[in-house]
Amino acid sequence: MFDRKTLIKPLESSPDWDVIIIGGGATGLGVALDSVTRGYRTLLLEQSDFAKGTSSRSTKLVHGGVRYLAQGNIDLVQEALYERGLMLKNASHLVRNQSFIIPNYKWWDSLVYTVGLKVYDFLAGKLSFGKSTRISKKETSSRLSTIKTEHLKGGVVYHDGQFDDARLAVNMAQTAIEQGATVLNHFKVSHLQKDANGKVNGVTAIDNETHKEYTFNTKVVINATGVFTDEILQMDTAGAKNTVRPSQGIHLVLDRSFLPGNDAIMIPKTADGRVLFLVPWHHRVVVGTTDTLLDSHSLEPKPLDKEVDFILETANAYLNKPVSKADVLSIFAGLRPLAAPKDASEKTKEISRSHKIIVSTSGLITITGGKWTTYRKMAQDTINKVIFLGKLPHRECQTKHLSIHGADGSADDTDHLYIYGTDQKAIERLIQESPELGDKLHPRLEFLKAEVVWAVKNEMALTVEDVLARRVRILFLDAKAAKECAPVVADILAWYLGKDDDWKQSQINEFTYLTNQYIL
Ligand SMILES: Cc1cc2nc3c(=O)[nH]c(=O)nc-3n(C[C@H](O)[C@H](O)[C@H](O)COP(=O)(O)OP(=O)(O)OC[C@H]3O[C@@H](n4cnc5c(N)ncnc54)[C@H](O)[C@@H]3O)c2cc1C
Repeated sequence: MFDRKTLIKPLESSPDWDVIIIGGGATGLGVALDSVTRGYRTLLLEQSDFAKGTSSRSTKLVHGGVRYLAQGNIDLVQEALYERGLMLKNASHLVRNQSFIIPNYKWWDSLVYTVGLKVYDFLAGKLSFGKSTRISKKETSSRLSTIKTEHLKGGVVYHDGQFDDARLAVNMAQTAIEQGATVLNHFKVSHLQKDANGKVNGVTAIDNETHKEYTFNTKVVINATGVFTDEILQMDTAGAKNTVRPSQGIHLVLDRSFLPGNDAIMIPKTADGRVLFLVPWHHRVVVGTTDTLLDSHSLEPKPLDKEVDFILETANAYLNKPVSKADVLSIFAGLRPLAAPKDASEKTKEISRSHKIIVSTSGLITITGGKWTTYRKMAQDTINKVIFLGKLPHRECQTKHLSIHGADGSADDTDHLYIYGTDQKAIERLIQESPELGDKLHPRLEFLKAEVVWAVKNEMALTVEDVLARRVRILFLDAKAAKECAPVVADILAWYLGKDDDWKQSQINEFTYLTNQYIL
């Protein structure tokens, strides 16, 4: 079922669709799920891999956004808190309840944050993740054993969600396929088709594996391409004004010894007025992020030295175990598609983070902005808009209680295979049948060869990068180890995909080149 060739075969004889979605990140996959579960014939095309863009590079939080609360953006926070609750239920294998501690070094801070977080709890209503509480200096320093204790007054504990972003994207693609959609990675949209009245009625797209070109007809095209939004808008109208400006956020990944307990840290006020998170993730710690306005975008944005220095300096101001560049296991950058600022004085952190739906004169629908946490609501709003415009017959949204592929009611992370949810047993069966698949991919890491086999057979992975960046998250957890795993992963892929030694070598070369960007 989750096989590109099987999905591509019927495309030539069925070029007509109700909805075509361009982009396989959180937004596009969310729209595909919403569309197919309402019964529309749905095709999603992703130029690279699912979540290759921003959607694999988040801070891994399923959250209302404490920062947006401080900015008084109550509606946005309330909407995200509601969606947070639904995500915990619908993707229970990937979303965990995570406690955060805000360490306080001034008495009044602890009061201010306690009151603010009570409002946060209140806004979550029935879908609350747990009550916020004020804790003593002693409890703060015992729960956060690596925090500086000089002048520490106490802490405030609150709860949010934490997840694996790229794995959720893969599982959303699988869910959409199970529901009847055709969802394809490595399939780039190159042109929009229009009728005699200038209305968009199809796309031309290229299968990057075979280089074969296809033309598909449709009632509606949805542009869900994140920071690539303007490229599609310019396919629609040559010379169209840019609507999106990329703002970069980077993360450093550290060994768990920098934050050994179960709590995450939220630093509410950094030197540049933003917040910094230190979050336990797959037995490492993700530290981020930044907010740097850029002039250009790419699928592989590059962290800037000043961003690295900012994160290290801020973390070192709070941690008693000094962090240096040598401690960084992986570094990754993502781009927010912010609405282009109206004028030079507008700061990125003040630009609205809520989503926006644009309807072009041609009928092209663009959905941009928002957060991973609100992907479901963004999708619902997008398809509702299409129905409102009369492009599709009215049908109610079905996704509020839709289980995502793999959901099994728990995210018990004692065994790292928990992340596969209901698929975990099938991976264990692979190992029973071929015990060598139980071998580790790398002596330093917990991940197994069986996971690579699973990724190529059942999760549409086509390249070494698809496996090591977004199926098994080694590139994001330990970039040097990822580089060392490339030959064994290339071997397994070549065997299952029927590729030769030249292909294997070029995969290893490409991935090695890429990993250098993730190593500091
Ligand atoms: C640093 C950072 C941290 C964040 N942290 C969080 C967080 O902790 N929690 C949270 O809820 N949100 C977070 N977000 C926000 C969240 O990650 C984004 O809102 C979300 O991932 C955006 O998804 P998207 O699908 O719109 O964009 P993308 O994930 O970028 O997807 C767009 C896709 O379109 C594809 N595409 C482009 N052109 C074409 C074409 N011609 N044909 C086919 N495909 C094409 C691209 O390859 C890409 O995969 C964070 C964002 C950043 C930048």
